[in-house]
Amino acid sequence: MKKENPFAIAQAQLDRAAEKLSLSPGVHAALREPMRELHVNIPVKMDDGKIKVFKGFRVQYNDARGPNKGGIRFHPEETIDTVRALAAWMTWKCAVVDIPLGGGKGGVICNPKEMSQGELERLSRAYIDAVGRMIGPEKDIPAPDVYTTPQIMAWMMDEYSKIKGCYTPGVITGKPLANGGSRGRGDATARGGMYCVRDAAAHLGIDLSKATAAIQGYGNAGYFAAVLSKELLGVKVVAVSDSHGGIYVPNGIDAEAVLHHKTNTGSVVGFPGSKAVSNEELLELDVDVLFPAALEEVITEENAERIKAKIVAELANGPTTPTADDILYKKGIFIIPDFLCNAGGVTVSYFEWVQNICSYYWEEEEVHERLNRKITKAFADVLSTSIDVHVDMRTAAYMVSVNRVADAMKLRGWV
Ligand code: GLU
Repeated sequence: MKKENPFAIAQAQLDRAAEKLSLSPGVHAALREPMRELHVNIPVKMDDGKIKVFKGFRVQYNDARGPNKGGIRFHPEETIDTVRALAAWMTWKCAVVDIPLGGGKGGVICNPKEMSQGELERLSRAYIDAVGRMIGPEKDIPAPDVYTTPQIMAWMMDEYSKIKGCYTPGVITGKPLANGGSRGRGDATARGGMYCVRDAAAHLGIDLSKATAAIQGYGNAGYFAAVLSKELLGVKVVAVSDSHGGIYVPNGIDAEAVLHHKTNTGSVVGFPGSKAVSNEELLELDVDVLFPAALEEVITEENAERIKAKIVAELANGPTTPTADDILYKKGIFIIPDFLCNAGGVTVSYFEWVQNICSYYWEEEEVHERLNRKITKAFADVLSTSIDVHVDMRTAAYMVSVNRVADAMKLRGWV
């Protein structure tokens, strides 16, 4: 099936909330488009001595509540509309957890799996040279996203620091600990999702100690979701997948052993003792919790009717299309929407930025405690809106966030 335009999806989601909020047409129009975007062409010398020109983007969606914030994705299928959608979702994400940041996103069309470390480093530095004037600790603070790593953040921070002539760790988050990273940033996206699932299960009366889960994707969010589902919630993870396919282990997977297998072979597929499942089959498994933790638009009108999970906890950005949303809602499936479910990552990124600015670093327990407080409050705000206004959780999350951003714009005199 042809993918829908992700930015059209983000706009359609906003439109639903705008109607429920009776948002004035001017404010609605201002929130439907990014404030600013930069398109760059980046020449990079490859290992064979030839120059390859990569296309990159940085989109600043809305900074009414504070500097723009959001990751940089390196992906062969990156498009400007994907970056726009992701930047919009970052705006709502920072607002829903009530951190003083706006939304942005970056991307480069490239395939990091086919690049050497040297090529990746040169591309990362060149990207910062290209967008450097647009970012900064008070303007726009990038972070990791799909296929970008703490090492890449370290190179980018170094490049920016060289341009500025001084060590500037607050320009980017998700850095290694040795370069001003925060304790607890590594598993923060998944950890925030766990807090949401905990609160959703309490609301729905589901006993998580008897629950099963399936995870689509085994990158940062997917892997840590596998670890923390068991550790924090006592949930048995019976299936995981990556871009090559999935594995099913009825007695529950050993997250560490699966990671080891993926590191050695390049995929979770073929993990000893597992049954092979496709990514499509994984999404339709009869589990209590389904974690889409990979890319956009995997739950669509094609398969939504066959989803059996009681809770869909969206660790990925944009995994469910609006038509699929309606189908799941009618089936009584409880969705924890992406920009709430995966907000743990940017919340700890915010803590990292605060620590960089203060040059004073926190213990891991303090990070976990503060993250728990932020996510618990955000989940409660969204759930109570959903109950009070009789809307699904995604529309409720939009209502909470859009209100906050619209208020900031109005009070600043923008609209
Ligand atoms: N890329 C992550 C996200 O989509 C993290 C962003 C950040 O930490 O700024 O939420």
